[in-house]
Amino acid sequence: MVNNHTKILILGSTGSIGKSACNCVRRFKYRFSVAGLTAGSNVDLLTGQIREFSPASIYITGSQNADLIKDRFKNLSVYSGDGGLEQIVNEADYDILLNALVGAVGFRPTVAALKRGKRVALANKESLVIGGDYIRAIIGQDNERRLLPVDSEHSAILQCLPSSPGHHNTIESIILTASGGPFRSLPKDKFASITPEQALNHPTWSMGKKITIDSSTLMNKGFEVIEAHHLFATPYDKLRVCVHPQSIVHSMVEFHDGAVLAQLGLPDMELPIQYALSWPNRLPIPGKRLNLPDIKSLDFSDPDMDRFPCMRLCIDAGKTGGTAPAAVNAANEVAVDLFLNKRIGYTGISEIVESALNEHTPLKADSVEVIEDADRETRKKILNKYRS
Ligand code: NAD
Ligand code: MG
Repeated sequence: MVNNHTKILILGSTGSIGKSACNCVRRFKYRFSVAGLTAGSNVDLLTGQIREFSPASIYITGSQNADLIKDRFKNLSVYSGDGGLEQIVNEADYDILLNALVGAVGFRPTVAALKRGKRVALANKESLVIGGDYIRAIIGQDNERRLLPVDSEHSAILQCLPSSPGHHNTIESIILTASGGPFRSLPKDKFASITPEQALNHPTWSMGKKITIDSSTLMNKGFEVIEAHHLFATPYDKLRVCVHPQSIVHSMVEFHDGAVLAQLGLPDMELPIQYALSWPNRLPIPGKRLNLPDIKSLDFSDPDMDRFPCMRLCIDAGKTGGTAPAAVNAANEVAVDLFLNKRIGYTGISEIVESALNEHTPLKADSVEVIEDADRETRKKILNKYRS
């Protein structure tokens, strides 16, 4: 970082979070620049982003797409294929990595950036779900906050935490809010017939497909409990979930004198993304403001673990520790994909996750290889059953 100017490497720049991150850079050209961009397959959007932000390095998944980009831009380092994401993270010149990849594919890049001593703005919660202990061991006792949450709930918690050291003794609990998703009030006997189209229709947030399904099953909230456990070094018995359908209160911190601090705002990811990029500073965002009389009422209730078993399974795996959360995450990724492709019904997602967790023997998650083995084995077992 020179003169407060931050060079950002954006992984997953063509996705929902990636595009919002580009808006933040666009808004503060003097403050942020793009060191690198990565995309899965959307070569046209990536081309437009390269023209606008002039990064020095890019990654795109397929070799044909990579060749297309090389033809279009001559002075660009182009990465592709297996190991390419890790390579760009290891070689590009940047101050902060914004990891907005979806799924376990984001784990190695997070690890690589942290091992390089870089700061990571983390949207890819799966990194912490599958390898939280390992990632915490890399960061160690580093006083500088190296991992900055992009997830709105965790950003809210960070904004509510006292800045003075030793704050942990004063925290009684952390309360994560959950919208409850589109099926918050649906009776249990209707769950089996839920279609992908219905599950993709989130009431308050507009997001990528995978997290939208995870939000509808509340698996996402289970992931976020594990994420909070690692980000804020908070034991599971101090982490609570509260359903709040309006998505205005983004999360809360309760202190030992009974005070509860909350961060409120309209549901828009640009605030948490920009805060992670500018932390510890706050930069302005123009536009719509929260006006509570328009919202009228804010509702809160306990989550229903019976209708939403994914959340319980995920938190159980977090408490078990080791490679158990990696198995849950892998099973969930496969199950969500099978559901979106109409190969299984909605309740099949939690059934697959539950049987994967029962079949998994957790090992100590102390290396990338052990964690990735658990991920690979879990996927293989499920896919063997569903091979057409
Ligand atoms: P998305 O599907 O919209 O975008 C994912 C990005 O990753 C795309 O650029 C895609 O091309 C890229 N990608 C996917 N698979 C890849 C692969 N195998 N190799 C290389 N690139 C690949 O997802 P999103 O909604 O932006 O979510 C990204 C992450 O942020 C997820 O972990 C999600 O849980 C988290 N998150 C998202 C939101 C949100 O509002 N969208 C909020 C909180 C947290
Ligand atoms: Mg969230």
